[in-house]
Amino acid sequence: MILETIFIIILGVSIGSFLNVLIYRIPKRESILPASHCQKCRVKLKPWHNIPLFSYLFLKGRCAFCNSKISIQYPVVEFLTGVIFLILYLEMGFGVEFLILSFLFAILFALSVIDLYHKAVPDSLNLLALTLAIVYPLNLEAIFINFENALLFGGAFAFLRFYVSYFVGREAMGEGDIMMAGTIGAILGAYLGVFAIFLSSILTIPAILISKEREMPYIPFLALALFITYIFYGEINIALDNILF
Ligand SMILES: [Zn+2]
Repeated sequence: MILETIFIIILGVSIGSFLNVLIYRIPKRESILPASHCQKCRVKLKPWHNIPLFSYLFLKGRCAFCNSKISIQYPVVEFLTGVIFLILYLEMGFGVEFLILSFLFAILFALSVIDLYHKAVPDSLNLLALTLAIVYPLNLEAIFINFENALLFGGAFAFLRFYVSYFVGREAMGEGDIMMAGTIGAILGAYLGVFAIFLSSILTIPAILISKEREMPYIPFLALALFITYIFYGEINIALDNILF
């Protein structure tokens, strides 16, 4: 049990390290395969400069060659991906479904960080997340239901976008949000999916109050609301039943 937990955490921070590569390179349309290099001096990193979390600590956050500062984003993304894997593991145990879903939530995390930086997300990762959300049960009947829910939520969000854009007089919400809505529908189903969308809009309120930016990235809030609703599935279900019925 302890060994398995340690393995899951190492797996999570390693995937987090890979997410940093995706976050940095996909928006620049660079290949994700060549070895890592320092963004300042471009010198190729040695394998021991690439150990998730630890390298940042023993290099004291600076490049080993040119001494330029390494962004704190790297260890933070690695650490949080480890946390995501650990929470999902404690919730559902180890298995194929765990591996697919934790990878899926890792992709959503990468999409969130990319959205924060660029106010747009790459279709490649978004479509991968949507596909995984539909097929993860690996059971034809369940996949079909997930597919139906993805269509329902994607369609509803597309309509909502037209309505809001019409009344606001400018393009509201990004196309990426429609795919994310499909992912939410596939994983949570109609009932809790609607709750997650509602929760995501509540989560934006403090951000809107604090932020001075006009354009607010929405993917991070959708992803966070999906994760919270997925983890507290049972509790939220009972609470909603008590309130609504
Ligand atoms: Zn350097």
